[in-house]
Amino acid sequence: MLGSKKMKQIVILSGKGGTGKTSLAAALATIDGPLIVADCDVDVANLHLLLQPEDEKQVRFTTGAKAVINQSLCTRCGACMDHCRFDAILFHDGRFTVSVTSCDGCRLCMHVCPADAISMKESNNSFWYTGSFRNGWMVHARLAPGEENSGKLVNVVREQSRMLQEKRGVDTILIDGPPGTGCPAISSMSGTDLAVLVTEPSRSAFHDLIRVKELTDRFHIPSAVVINKYDLNGQITVEIAEWCGREGIPLVGMIPFEPEVVEAMLHCKTVVEWAPESTAAKEILSLHQQIFKFNRMGIHKEEEI
Ligand code: SF4
Ligand code: SF4
Repeated sequence: MLGSKKMKQIVILSGKGGTGKTSLAAALATIDGPLIVADCDVDVANLHLLLQPEDEKQVRFTTGAKAVINQSLCTRCGACMDHCRFDAILFHDGRFTVSVTSCDGCRLCMHVCPADAISMKESNNSFWYTGSFRNGWMVHARLAPGEENSGKLVNVVREQSRMLQEKRGVDTILIDGPPGTGCPAISSMSGTDLAVLVTEPSRSAFHDLIRVKELTDRFHIPSAVVINKYDLNGQITVEIAEWCGREGIPLVGMIPFEPEVVEAMLHCKTVVEWAPESTAAKEILSLHQQIFKFNRMGIHKEEEI
């Protein structure tokens, strides 16, 4: 049963990547507005490719420090390599160097180096952005390759989107969360009013759906399920639908696999803009009606929305 209270924060999640989470988030963002969109999938941010915001602000984000070896001080003793638990010290052509993608920033090598040749350097190659798009405003970010602290950057995106929401006086923040069940996913869902869990009919996606549902339960966040490309495997779709029924989770959408979805992406549009008469677009419009009217108090385990 849908309630009348306006939704505040809706997060789109999936237990695994590649389920169509971001395409769905983009489509939902272009149906009705104005709204704030927060792209919290900072490791693989691509919602901006579909929404094409005009960025008004770009801010540098400092992530964790990485070890750096001063070659003129290094005596080639190898102690740093022996102690690094992350295999981040490399030896090549008679020189010890640090792999920035493997370095965890634990500083142990700095302490064991007898020549004082190692220092820590803050990395500031990541950015967050705010701007407007065709249906409201958007906050997104880009974590540089190999950088850590994506959970912290997600928090920045969430905080900025809340500030933007207040400034612009809009009701809804739509969050595209990262895949998985790690720290960034938790940061993106905390304090939200509804988690829309996007899955597809495959064994691995179903398994990951169950895991992400356990996570939303732990944080007492009501959830609803969308099965994307449901017609690719009827058997598993039925199993997911039956599981939703047993768990009391509203199954709010079953989106078919249609070429228009891919065509829309190739043209940097969402399917509701590119092919509004397609079955996929109509299904997304229907689920938009359900989730944007959703009220935390208006859902009960036994009811469908
Ligand atoms: S800071 Fe830690 S993880 Fe990085 S290279 Fe040194 S010992 Fe390895
Ligand atoms: S511990 Fe220091 S001196 Fe020894 S190899 Fe590493 S950087 Fe060079």
